[in-house]
Amino acid sequence: EAKSLGTGPQVFNEGISSAFLRKLRLERELRFAAERGELQLVYQPQIGLASGRLEGMESLLRWRHPELGAISPSEFIPIAEETGLIREIGGWALGEACRQLGEWDRASRAVPAIAVNLSARQFMAPDLADSIRRIVREAGCDPRQIVLEITESFGITDMEPVIAVLRELKAAGFRIAIDDFGKGYSALGYLKQLPIDILKIDKSFLAELTTDPKSEALTRAIIQMAQGMELRVIAEGVETHAQMDRLRELRCDIAQGYYIDRPMPAGELEDGYLAPTR
Ligand code: C2E
Ligand code: CA
Ligand code: CA
Ligand code: CA
Repeated sequence: EAKSLGTGPQVFNEGISSAFLRKLRLERELRFAAERGELQLVYQPQIGLASGRLEGMESLLRWRHPELGAISPSEFIPIAEETGLIREIGGWALGEACRQLGEWDRASRAVPAIAVNLSARQFMAPDLADSIRRIVREAGCDPRQIVLEITESFGITDMEPVIAVLRELKAAGFRIAIDDFGKGYSALGYLKQLPIDILKIDKSFLAELTTDPKSEALTRAIIQMAQGMELRVIAEGVETHAQMDRLRELRCDIAQGYYIDRPMPAGELEDGYLAPTR
C-alpha cells in the first residue's frame, strides 16, 4: 500500500517538471526564433457567402522549431505575451504580412485584404499606433489592405487608451475586426465606442450552429446586431456544408474554416486563390 501511495505523486511531479522545462526552453528560444528564420505566416482564406469569392485572408503565425518541430501559437503566443516578446513577434508578423502583400502586388495578384492578429498585451505599449504605422509605411503598404484583429478580452483593463489607439489606426486607413466575438464577457457598450468594421463570431457558436437551437439563436442575433451597426460579419471555424448553408440563410457575410480550407503557406494560397490580374 505504502508503495502505491508513493508512485502517484512522483509521476505527477515528473509531468509538471517536463512541462515546466519545455516552457522555460520555449521562453528562452522564442527570443531568437524570428532572426533564426523559424517563424512563418500561414494564410487562411475568407470567402464571401453570397459571391463565393475571396474577400480576405487571416495571417496566422507558425513556429517551426529545429528540434521540437511545429509549435502551436496557442502554446507560444501566451509565452510571448508573458515575457513581453509579443511586441517583437507581433511586429515581425505585421512586417511579414506587408512584405507578402508587396510581393503579390508586384506579381499582379489582387489581394482584397490581409488580417493580422494583435494581442491585448500589445496595447500596453504607448506607441503601438505609431509602430504599426511605421512598419506598414516602411514596407510600402497601403493600410487599407490591412485588417487588425483584436479580441474583446481586454474589457477588464482600462478601455480609454485602447479606444484612442484604435481611432488613430482607423484614421490612418486600417480596418479593425473584433475577434472571438461572444466568447468572453462581451462588454456590448464598448461596441458603440470602438471604431470597428468587422465582427468575427467565435467558433464555439459555429460548432453547435446546426445542432443546438440556442447557438443558432445567438448566431442569428449577433448577425442582426452587426448588420444594424453596418459591420461585416465573419463566421470562423466553419467545418461543414450544413454550417455553410445555415450561415447563408442567416445572411452572414463571410466564412472562414476548414470546410473551405486550412491555413496554408503563401505559395499555396496564391496557387489556389489569387489569379493573376494581367
Ligand atoms: P484565432 O485568432 O482565433 O485564429 C483562428 C484559429 O482557428 C487558428 O488557430 C486557425 O487555424 C483555427 N481554425 C481555422 N479554421 C478552423 C476550423 O474550421 N475549425 C477549428 N476548430 N479551428 C479552425 P491557430 O492558427 O492555431 O491560432 C491560434 C490562436 O493563436 C489564434 O486564434 C490567435 O489568438 C493566436 N495567434 C495566431 N497567430 C497570431 C499572431 O500573428 N499574433 C497574435 N497576437 N496571435 C496569434
Ligand atoms: Ca484571429
Ligand atoms: Ca478567432
Ligand atoms: Ca483569438
